[in-house]
Amino acid sequence: MLKELIDQFYLDKEKDREQNHFYITDAGKCARAVFFKFKNMPREKMEARMLRLFDHGDYIQMQILNSLFSLGIVRASEVQIPPQGLVSGRADAIVTLNNELYVVDFKSMNSMLFRKLEAPKEENVNQIQLYMHYFGIPKGILLYMSKDTSELKDFLVQYNADLVQGLIKGLENLDQKIKTNIVPEQLPDFPRNWQCTYCSFRDICSSAGKGELPWGDFKKNIEKLGE
Ligand code: SF4
Repeated sequence: MLKELIDQFYLDKEKDREQNHFYITDAGKCARAVFFKFKNMPREKMEARMLRLFDHGDYIQMQILNSLFSLGIVRASEVQIPPQGLVSGRADAIVTLNNELYVVDFKSMNSMLFRKLEAPKEENVNQIQLYMHYFGIPKGILLYMSKDTSELKDFLVQYNADLVQGLIKGLENLDQKIKTNIVPEQLPDFPRNWQCTYCSFRDICSSAGKGELPWGDFKKNIEKLGE
């Protein structure tokens, strides 16, 4: 009945999501996983239930944004970074506090993770650092929300030029590897790294081995295994 129709709607939406340029969320992530996404490697399918949970997070974030609008401190919302050919992204908001501008990014999580959160997550810091860089705003706020208890926590983030240069360099290197068809190396602590735990390319990554390798050879091997 309706459940099947709704599940299929979410699964179809996910199927159409092909990647051909970097998103800010790719910065600092496992280069091999991003490479596989670009090359459209088959990955473990995400359940429709999980996809709906992401939508739920977006809905909570909209509610928070509405409160900031009511406070009259939002200067812009859903702001695209200026085009520059490497990466695209959209910050949730730019606000003014005490006459200073701040980039704000919202994140939602379940209450169990939220309770344990004592510092901003590294991947979220990477993301907001790039927003601050491209907007030329030296201060940011990461605002976390618990999806099931509606509690909030916020963290101030100061611009870190060295970190940003490292992230940009990492994306430029990966761009080269994608263009020259070199599969990047595995994360050194595969499979214990948290990214591996949630990675939908774990099986093919494991069969590719540790080091860099030519994409053409690897693809042929994978295709042979599938015959
Ligand atoms: S399993 Fe780990 S090392 Fe392999 S692609 Fe995924 S995140 Fe990267």
